[in-house]
Amino acid sequence: MNLSGWPGVAARRWIEQILLERMGYPFELTSTDGAELKLSLPGFQGFIQFECDPGTFNRNDSALPCVSWGAVKEGWIPPGGQNLPVPGKHTLRVPLIQKESFGFVVHYDLLGMVYWILSRSEEVGRSDLDEHERFSARNSHAMKYDYLERPIVDEWLSILRDIICINWPELKLLKHKFSMRVSHDVDEPSRYAFRSLSRWLRAIGGDIIKRRDVGGVLKALIVKFTSRKSLSSLDPANTFDWIMAQSEKEGIASAFYFICGRTDLTRDADYELEHPAIRELLRRINKRGHEIGLHPSYNSYLSNSVILGEVARLRRVCLEEGIVQAAWGGRMHFLRWSQPATLRAWDEASMSYDSTLGYAELVGFRCGTCFEYPAFDPVSQEILNVRIRPLIVMDVTLTSTSYLALGYGDAAFEKVKMLKDACRTVDGQFTLLWHNNNLVTEEERRLYLWSLKC
Ligand SMILES: [Zn+2]
Repeated sequence: MNLSGWPGVAARRWIEQILLERMGYPFELTSTDGAELKLSLPGFQGFIQFECDPGTFNRNDSALPCVSWGAVKEGWIPPGGQNLPVPGKHTLRVPLIQKESFGFVVHYDLLGMVYWILSRSEEVGRSDLDEHERFSARNSHAMKYDYLERPIVDEWLSILRDIICINWPELKLLKHKFSMRVSHDVDEPSRYAFRSLSRWLRAIGGDIIKRRDVGGVLKALIVKFTSRKSLSSLDPANTFDWIMAQSEKEGIASAFYFICGRTDLTRDADYELEHPAIRELLRRINKRGHEIGLHPSYNSYLSNSVILGEVARLRRVCLEEGIVQAAWGGRMHFLRWSQPATLRAWDEASMSYDSTLGYAELVGFRCGTCFEYPAFDPVSQEILNVRIRPLIVMDVTLTSTSYLALGYGDAAFEKVKMLKDACRTVDGQFTLLWHNNNLVTEEERRLYLWSLKC
């Protein structure tokens, strides 16, 4: 099946919006006869012409070809200086970018590629999903052609930026500054306080066998019976104050995403948002200037009404606690996502942003970018109000033996540093997810602090 959309009017308006956010000017993208695209700027002479390839960039599979372009050989300097992957192409014209009397010709549907990657058209209607019904990295085009660890949309837009600067030297294009965002999915705010008796006993059993922590039994008892009004300071998962203190040292605000529903008895959380200890935690986070958001439950990802209900619950409890925020965002539990159903659910619930889109099994750039951007539904061809905040690194991906299993030492650190530097090179945003209950041991905390500071 092929989608249709590129280079339709809505798709072009969306790309214009993205260029406005990146460059700071209202460029116009016109399609002449479907064979070419023109980028112009009202009030300015000349234009940039692109090849147009709807047959390739309306595809919703991962079987597109890909070659590599030696930008430097042709006199262009991409961020990082490496050859650029060219999704959708078997062969390339030389030179790829040509100067003409009216401006430039680019023999590649560069903006079609940006459209295809950012709209996640590749993921629409897929049946090759993993055990959590997720589109997985191993089936992606980026993985097949080894560019998942590069923000290639940003790299290509940097080349476009250079073309624009030569074509219209009088423009002062918008400059961006590297920044970092940290967020924390609150799957387990307490190790012992909210569990049912059987799960509580299992947790204690685990402490004795795995961690040889016999003293933990006493701790579990104390935590269980002293967490009525606020989380116990003895609770291993109660790392919230520590997290906030570290973020404050770095001058950033942490975002904490709470589960507000139970659609799967084993995979969703044990706590209720209305519990006095959770209410106290919400107030504490808000008072210190950090953010509260939503972590929709396991089976919510295909249902507008379930997500809407969970949003309403979060907003109601926050309102009762006097918590006011300008923006509300979050991330799906287990990173479950179906494009575009989940996206539409976030949009219809009037959420400001979603930060789910990274792969569970591999770190990197699922959306080809580290910049936040307005969402687009590639099926209905609509620009949505919700924004996508791509997830670059999740703690579990680095350390879990089911995923990268890099441990807590240099290998994990080097991976984080490499990805953070890739974001830095394009003046983008590095988005890191670290669960509050994975900051218990010294080695977990050390790796997290390295990741914050590197
Ligand atoms: Zn979760």
